[in-house]
Amino acid sequence: MSGLLRIRWAIAPKIAPRPLINCNRCGGVRPYRCSGKFRVNANGKRIDAWLIYRCVDCDNSWNRTILERRSRRDIAPALLASLENNDPALVRCHAFDAPALRTWIGRVEEFPDVAVQKQVLDGSMENTMVELQLWLETTTCLRLDRLLAREFGISRLRLQTWEERRLLVVAPDGARALRKPARTGTAIRIDLVGEPDRDIVISAAGG
Ligand SMILES: [Zn+2]
Repeated sequence: MSGLLRIRWAIAPKIAPRPLINCNRCGGVRPYRCSGKFRVNANGKRIDAWLIYRCVDCDNSWNRTILERRSRRDIAPALLASLENNDPALVRCHAFDAPALRTWIGRVEEFPDVAVQKQVLDGSMENTMVELQLWLETTTCLRLDRLLAREFGISRLRLQTWEERRLLVVAPDGARALRKPARTGTAIRIDLVGEPDRDIVISAAGG
């Protein structure tokens, strides 16, 4: 049976990136983990907000600037309330934003661990042509080929062979995208008609 099975992979990184900071209490470079808490200074007309990080070894704190000397009237009351209440969704939004973190601290430790939620959009599990559509909650350092190999339970060499035989096509950016971090908007099309274990691969793709 031919036809296309379209599946959406929603990918959520599991461990927030950790800035590597010269800890003055430890006397050396240490990773700092996100504490999950904001500190807000909302006295008067100007508002400052920081996300607090703590040294993994000695608990020393580092304040990452989120808002700096911002006029109170420029800040939505809902945002201020979220900051003051350590809204977990807002914490997560900042904590997992590795590019923004890197603007404050040059060296950042990133983790490739992700949770993948798979949802069949259309088509049937009988189809032998699969299209995966990626959506990422935040950026990840996890390479696309590692993600696919892990989720399918196959080797990266096999993925490479598929790509060379044009059985696997990545858009945009083609084969280069396989060796780069997985990104939102990437679509991977795989023709599994000739694969003896396609049922296993398809069922892994669909979750
Ligand atoms: Zn320390």
